[in-house]
This record gives sequence, structure tokens and C-alpha cells, in this order.
Amino acid sequence: MKTWTEMASIQPLVSKMLTNGFKQNRVSHAYLFYGPKGTGKRAMGSLLTKTLFCKKKTDIEPCQDCKDCHRIDSGNHPDVHWISPDGQTIKKEQILHLQKEFTYTGMESNQKVYIIDQADRMTTNASNRLLKFLEEPNKETTAILLTENSQSILQTIRSRCQMMAFKPLNTVALQNQLMDKGLTEANARLMVALTNNLSDAMELDKDEWFANARKIVVQLIEVLQSKPEESLLFIHNSWMHHFKDREQIQQGLDLLLLWFKDLIYHATGNEALIVFMYEQERMEKSALIWSRQHITNVLQSIMDAKKKIGQNVNPALVMEQLTLQIQR
Ligand SMILES: [Zn+2]
Repeated sequence: MKTWTEMASIQPLVSKMLTNGFKQNRVSHAYLFYGPKGTGKRAMGSLLTKTLFCKKKTDIEPCQDCKDCHRIDSGNHPDVHWISPDGQTIKKEQILHLQKEFTYTGMESNQKVYIIDQADRMTTNASNRLLKFLEEPNKETTAILLTENSQSILQTIRSRCQMMAFKPLNTVALQNQLMDKGLTEANARLMVALTNNLSDAMELDKDEWFANARKIVVQLIEVLQSKPEESLLFIHNSWMHHFKDREQIQQGLDLLLLWFKDLIYHATGNEALIVFMYEQERMEKSALIWSRQHITNVLQSIMDAKKKIGQNVNPALVMEQLTLQIQR
């Protein structure tokens, strides 16, 4: 539950644009909130929705305590629809269902809101359906699309939305907060690199699976450097064994990405940005084996691998290809 005052401290620019919109009675038919994970997109979507429905607002600040506010928080408001991927993707049927719901007048008013989480996961058919829906705007319907990857959304959809860029949070402040809560500097740096959310970071720090994930990433680097002929074996025996579902694999790839970013920081003397603080020796070894150009290529390969995992490509195959690209 966030207020406009709180959101203004997290995302000042977006908050200002949205609150000005309310004050001037110019609320858009469709918004696209885009930016990294943990930057407050969902909280902002929820707050915007409450501001539209709450009848006990003070200025534009929703009361957070009426029936409308409570039901929006619990996801039970009859005129507010949240859509998120059903499995890997958002399917055409989900958009059709939404459209059908919206042909009825509102349960309690004509105001309706739908929020599409991870909108980049829409299939082509779902995107085309949504586009049609956006093309016939209803005065009292507001669409809010959320994504970490706005480039994967159809240009025709983007052009119909008011685009709102969510900026990464102040990482130094978060890192200090984590260290105040007892995390070591090395752990705090790593958590800040992976999430912008304090409670997620605290949880991740205590997670045993995650601690092992880190070890396996470092082991993979070691194998790639010292025994490259065994790397595919390592992928099958250790990596795939630990990173089982797609979400876990994405986390493994995020860690690998951080390692190669560290190599760039190491090479450019930006030691303060290094996440794997206690791996200096291994990093120096990496710098001898891999050129800076190669490391840049590897960063791109890891990003491509992440994309493929998101697109349902066989994970073992993606990891094999990536390993070979790193070794090249
Ligand atoms: Zn309220």
C-alpha cells in the first residue's frame, strides 16, 4: 500500500506526470509502465487504480481504507482486472475473456481498469486482440500495461499508450539499508545488483538455494577457465541439476551476467562496482584468457540466452550453446 507521497520519493517523474493528469482531469485510456524489476510499477498501477475508484480521496490521495481501496489491494474489485501470464505467455483467450467482461457495464460504476502484468509475454494473437481493444477506447476504461522489456511490445500498441519510464532506484541507499540490517558489504552489493526491493533482498540473502546458485556460477567460471573440455558435462551434471525451472535458470543467468560485468569493471578500474568482491584472483585469471571484446560479446550472448529461456527454447540447449560461445 503506497501513497502518492511515497511513490513520489521512489519515482518522482512518473508520479508527477500521473498526479498532474489527475489534477487536470486528463487521465489516459492506456499507460505503459516500463522499467527494471522492483521499481514500483505494480504499486503505481494499484495506486492509480485506487485514485480512480476511491470516493473518499483527500485531494488526489486515496483513503486506503474504504471498500474500493480494500478490494483493489486484495485483487477482488469487480471492475478491476489483473492479467498475468498463464504459464509462459499471456494468451489470446485471456484478452478475449477480458473484452467480454468489459462489454457489460461496470458492476458499481462505469469505471473499469485492467492491468496487464508482464505485457511483453503476450502471444502475437493476444497482442493483436489487445490492439483492437485499444483502438476502440471507452471513455471510462483505463488500461495499464507493465513490462520490464518495452521493446518486445508491438510498436502499434506502444503508440497507443502513454509511455512511463520507471527508473532504477537509488542503489547506494538500498545497499546501506541492507548493511544496517546486518548483511556483509559483498552480499549487500550482490543483492542490490539483483533487486531494488529491500524485503526481496533480505529474503534472497537467507535463501539456501540462492547461496548454492552463487557457488555453481563461480564453479562454472572455474571449469570454463581451467577445464573447458568438461564444461558441457558440468552444465548437465551440476548446472541443470540446480537450476530446474525457467525462473531459476533466469536467476542463474543473471548471476553469470553480473560476473562478466564485473570483468569489465575490473578491466576499467571500477572496483567499487564489482559484485563478486572476493573473486579478485579468479577475475585476474579471466582477464588473461578473455579479451575485452570477447567479454562484451559474452554479455550479449547471455542476454540472448535469457531471451530464449523466456521464449520456451529448451533450457539445456540454450545453456550448451551459451557455454560454447563463452569458450570460443
Ligand atoms: Zn478509498
